[in-house]
Amino acid sequence: MKRLWGAHVSAAGGLKNVILNAKTLNVSAVQIHPSAPQRWITKDIDTAQIESMVKEQKKYPELKLIFAHAIYLINLANPDKQKFHLSKMAVISYLNFMFDVNSIAPKYNSDLKVGGVVVHPGSAKHVTSSEEAIERVQKGLNYILENSRGGTVLLETTAGAGQIIGDTFEELSKLRENSIDPKRIKFCIDTQHMWASGYDIKNSPDAVIEEMEKYLGIENIKLIHLNDSATELGSHKDRHANLGEGTIGLLALKRFINHPKLAHIPVVLETPGLKSIETAKIEVTKLKQIIS
Ligand SMILES: [Zn+2]
Repeated sequence: MKRLWGAHVSAAGGLKNVILNAKTLNVSAVQIHPSAPQRWITKDIDTAQIESMVKEQKKYPELKLIFAHAIYLINLANPDKQKFHLSKMAVISYLNFMFDVNSIAPKYNSDLKVGGVVVHPGSAKHVTSSEEAIERVQKGLNYILENSRGGTVLLETTAGAGQIIGDTFEELSKLRENSIDPKRIKFCIDTQHMWASGYDIKNSPDAVIEEMEKYLGIENIKLIHLNDSATELGSHKDRHANLGEGTIGLLALKRFINHPKLAHIPVVLETPGLKSIETAKIEVTKLKQIIS
């Protein structure tokens, strides 16, 4: 199968616009926030919205795959009861979105699919120990799995800033293994975050990929977030840079994403250049030139 790749695009003005934005960039995969990312969401995404997106996709069938990125406010390690609850509800509504798109699309003869909901595991900044934080994340994930209709959580590797959970493959893999339904928990690897947390994907990609195999399982990696890095290896800072404008560099990124073991995994850009359509086109062109 042809590799799917693209960029994070806006869903502002309605889900239908996701298809138009994908078409403008000429990509086969996108990532979106199905709702405003700076606002809590406790309800399911409207079915009429989903139908309009699915119908629109038939005019641009090159777009095959959507990833939903959880809203920014989520922290599944938050000891504040209300915020913990809202965090769980927000992921549940996105998982239901995934389930709904994947069941509605075939009814319209559309092959559009949602491939997963990207979730940052959370931050231990409000709690006394990282064990306590991880325990709460685990509880949260189990609640989410139990109370959603379907869909897959993609736990994302983090840069490890502050007390962020999930900057080692081992930590992420435990969250999956200790969950009530590991089949519904997979992973998203982010090139900038891995680099920032100390995985040298530039000089020793094989060693990093070996670690991935050991802890995550390549078959469980469903998405690559492609970013160059504005900070150094091991900086523990989450700072994306445009392709070729950071400390990883275009050649290293090219080698990494096309490594024989990873060359089937969808790739989505999250670089600063995506903010305007003109610069987004430049980023997509660079990706097109390096991806095989
Ligand atoms: Zn990312």
